[in-house]
Amino acid sequence: MGRVFVAGSINMDVVATADRHPKVGETVAGRQVLYFPGGKGANQAVAAARLGAGTTLIGRLGKDSFGAELKAFLRDQGIDLGYLQESAEAHTGTAIITVAETDNTIVVIPGTNALVGADDVNVVPLVQGDVAVSQFEIPLPAIAAFFRRARAAEATTLLNPAPAQRFSRELLALVDVLVLNETELGLLASVELSEDDDAVRIVDAARQLQANQDQTLCVTLGKRGVLALAGHEEFFVPGRVVKAVDTTGAGDCFVGALAAQFARGAALRDALAFANAAASISVQRMGAGPSMPTAAEVAAVVK
Ligand code: ADP
Repeated sequence: MGRVFVAGSINMDVVATADRHPKVGETVAGRQVLYFPGGKGANQAVAAARLGAGTTLIGRLGKDSFGAELKAFLRDQGIDLGYLQESAEAHTGTAIITVAETDNTIVVIPGTNALVGADDVNVVPLVQGDVAVSQFEIPLPAIAAFFRRARAAEATTLLNPAPAQRFSRELLALVDVLVLNETELGLLASVELSEDDDAVRIVDAARQLQANQDQTLCVTLGKRGVLALAGHEEFFVPGRVVKAVDTTGAGDCFVGALAAQFARGAALRDALAFANAAASISVQRMGAGPSMPTAAEVAAVVK
């Protein structure tokens, strides 16, 4: 059984709720302030750990109160923090979110996440059978170094290129499994895509992006499920029909679950069915981290 190693962002999400958003220069009284552990790296690590995978999170926190709170939270999830560093040069990554009338505004300050570098990942003890996971909320050179190390160890590399930004073919070539939503695929393949686009257009775009025949692409399509390209094969795993209350973190749950399955040696179709089920449970609950299901909860709905 392999381990899941996630190199990625850790944020404190500070959510202020109000009846309406302030205009520029205006102050309004809010209703509530809420603090949620977040950041794609942390969310994906929480998902993998809740599902029973041995999970290590590589990243950086500041030497401040948010850093201390996040560390305690991540430790409580059973995540190995032996390769987590604390930096005095910046504050812990923070997202300032205002929610009013169902709309939100978000300002993200990367803080210590921007300080993650090749030195952070070069010490990680990856071995064959492990899964190395990353996303685009830490500097790309650190991700490239992490994946090069994973390749040398014959571990599987899994990239979730979110938030979407263009990146080099060199980095793409280091990826075994690319997991992205249709918006990210559209940007990276330079095609306008929406969640409702037909499968043929999505497959065409995914084929354009695929670096080589060995690379697997998983395109998540919200409630429609997921479309996968592996070698010459392509197949669809339909979404489960559920009553969604909050889709925040659905993609992160999907990625963490997929990584946990690969670490167990699961075949692609089984891993996708499992991740699809896990993500469909997460959308039925509020929040990102707290909505991640356990293995028993997923097993109860996967046939
Ligand atoms: P992202 O949050 O990155 O945009 P998606 O919206 O594509 O990701 O969701 C990721 C996965 O979560 C989907 O592939 C699906 O498995 C699951 N999912 C998302 N929304 C729903 C929904 N409304 N009903 C059931 N499953 C969902």
